[in-house]
Amino acid sequence: MSFTLHGLGVSAGIAIGRAMLMSHATLEVSHLTLAPRQVDKEIARFDAAILAVKKELAAMKENTEHAPAELAAFIDVHAMFLEDSELTDKPREIIRERRCNAEWALVQQMEHLVHQFEQFDDPYLRERKFDVVQVVERVIKELLGHPARATAKASKQTREEALIVVAHDLSPADTIAFKDHRFAAFITDVGGATSHTAILARSMAIPAVLGLENGRALIRDGEQLIVDGMRGVVIVNPDPRVLEEYRLRMEQIELEKTKLRQLKDSPAQTLDGVDIALHANIELPGDIRDALDGGAEGIGLFRTEFLFLNRGDMPDEQEQYEAYKKVVKGMGGRPVTIRTFDLGADKDLNPEATAGDRVKTNPALGRRAIRLSLAEPKMFQIQLRAILRASRHGPIKLLIPMLAHAHEIDQTLAAIEQAKSSLRGEKIAFDENIQVGGMIEIPAAALAVGIFLRRLDFLSIGTNDLIQYTLAIDRSDEQVAALYDPLHPAVLMLLAHTIASAEKVGIPVSVCGETAGDPKLTRLLLGMGLRIFSMHPSQVLKVKSRILKSDISELAPNVRKMLRLDEPAKLREALEKLNS
Ligand code: PEP
Ligand code: MG
Repeated sequence: MSFTLHGLGVSAGIAIGRAMLMSHATLEVSHLTLAPRQVDKEIARFDAAILAVKKELAAMKENTEHAPAELAAFIDVHAMFLEDSELTDKPREIIRERRCNAEWALVQQMEHLVHQFEQFDDPYLRERKFDVVQVVERVIKELLGHPARATAKASKQTREEALIVVAHDLSPADTIAFKDHRFAAFITDVGGATSHTAILARSMAIPAVLGLENGRALIRDGEQLIVDGMRGVVIVNPDPRVLEEYRLRMEQIELEKTKLRQLKDSPAQTLDGVDIALHANIELPGDIRDALDGGAEGIGLFRTEFLFLNRGDMPDEQEQYEAYKKVVKGMGGRPVTIRTFDLGADKDLNPEATAGDRVKTNPALGRRAIRLSLAEPKMFQIQLRAILRASRHGPIKLLIPMLAHAHEIDQTLAAIEQAKSSLRGEKIAFDENIQVGGMIEIPAAALAVGIFLRRLDFLSIGTNDLIQYTLAIDRSDEQVAALYDPLHPAVLMLLAHTIASAEKVGIPVSVCGETAGDPKLTRLLLGMGLRIFSMHPSQVLKVKSRILKSDISELAPNVRKMLRLDEPAKLREALEKLNS
């Protein structure tokens, strides 16, 4: 049966493919205590479910001849796990010892195994935790009487079809682990438009729809899906007519991309001759290929905390140095802005270790980013030394996230001085004049921007957090996603004030939040005086195309007028005019 789900389209584009369910089975499982006489029966029920899933996988395997290689590999790994006593014998022991239901026993063992996989150094092995979760989900579905038969039937038709990840939720750590897989799209039940999961989907340039609420419960493994990331729509089991329509739209999108690629080497200059710098945001060193392909003139934001996720330990100085060196060398003399760790909030360094801590109800307001780095001086020194060491290979700038107080800036500058002095003592070369900038992502920082301008070499406005903190809405909560508004008059005032203040004293200022990569906002930002934009590689050419058709001398007076408006409807109307 065909049906349509609506959510938040957070990464544009269209994907057609097969659903691949992925998420923690814990969400559906209740904990029951059995009478002693029920235990043997429960174990037999568990054994029967394992057997049924083994058969199901064997049937799928037979049908995967024409399926994507990735699907066949998944099936093999899942079948292998089902032969392992960790997943077959251990849950039986748990059922017997704790007199609990099979679903619960299985989930307990799954969590134990997931934790063990997370401890591996090898990223490939760490990623296998997703396979454990998936295979457990298959067995749980069988136990609950909803077997994933759709896959077995559907897989026959999967020739050349892509896989679409369907999850209840994906943490940034989960999402980054998928970077090496060529998934066609992501869809999840929860998550806001500027959550880091959404950002990662955009950075991988694959369509994503979040906040579907109950997509994972309604969609079955292997069902055919159309994901329309622009409209925030997911069509399950589309009929042939709809499928054809979407295939045509996919072709159109490809055509537009080909046209845009022709702009790659033309300078980003407005009609009235103003040069604009277009930089890329990256999460991992491997992303520089996309940045260069997309025509970026440098890296405006390297979110280094992603080097830390999905591992049990911290990367040491040498490992970090190698990563930073790879980026700066790969960019061949173009500037690279490395942001120190923005860990905490939704990018928890070690969720297992902190699980038992006092419950943090507002992690985004807690010890995040520079607050965490200053509280962990050893960790911070290792990162600063690694970045400084890499600075001898090319132009690197240091960017500090989430600053609010003058004393935080002073402490950070002192920490940088300490790292420099230790390197000098060891006669290790680095760029003595490395520039240090601060992110403006807290309203207090934007309002009291003088504190920053007097102490730092450049500013970068993180609109994702600036909007979150100004409007008091959790950027990763789909329930308030509709309130997330870059055009809110308060947000525009903070942006305009920061840009104008920096301009007045000749300090370079960029925007590196999602706002910078939205072509609908390009003219507004140009009119405010912004000259440096940093965004996902996939957005660079779209923004460039808008810049090439803009005349700042014409639009600046209109933007000035627009900034005097504080009625949202009028602001939207003015923006439309600006873009027409
Ligand atoms: C921002 O907050 O706008 C930003 C660029 O940083 P992040 O999205 O990583 O928080
Ligand atoms: Mg931020």
